[in-house]
Amino acid sequence: MDLKQHIREVPDFPKPGILFYDVSTLLAHPQAWKATVERLKDLVSAYKPDVLAGIESRGFLVAAPLALELGLGFHMVRKKGKLPGKTIPYTYDLEYGTDTIEVQDGAIEPGQRVVILDDLLATGGTLAAAVELVRKVGGEVTGAASIMELTFLKGRERLDIPFSSLIAYD
Ligand code: 5GP
Repeated sequence: MDLKQHIREVPDFPKPGILFYDVSTLLAHPQAWKATVERLKDLVSAYKPDVLAGIESRGFLVAAPLALELGLGFHMVRKKGKLPGKTIPYTYDLEYGTDTIEVQDGAIEPGQRVVILDDLLATGGTLAAAVELVRKVGGEVTGAASIMELTFLKGRERLDIPFSSLIAYD
């Protein structure tokens, strides 16, 4: 199954000049979505995770079915202010300004092997920040994966962990 044909390409979203790769059409196609989850399962299980982490918000769509498939728990990495209870923040630099992501305190146990999931890797800034956040709470990031990767942005070069994706745009 060619998964790329199920990704809708939307010009000028969210800003003029940006070509957005839309997973809605992949999610809407049951066979293509099933194949996506099965292929990611193979990639992710190679990293031998104890637990998964998904990056807000489309990373949740990827992490939740994989957690079920692999029989593992899954934790949400969210933008600041969205998670209840005590949270652990990590602030990182953007082109203009900063952003903060969080996980719930105690969610990831020190020494746990964590695999981080998102829908798409672009510059790698978001994923690199999630890696640092998991490390801050004592987790060992053994790998990361996404459905899509914009290889021309060289996001992998910002990562110091193994990374796999299913669909490359170059
Ligand atoms: P990065 O931090 O690697 O530059 O950007 C990756 C983040 O932006 C991911 O969380 C991803 O959901 C989102 N993103 C950026 N561009 C796209 C796109 O074209 N399609 C989708 N689905 N997500 C995108």
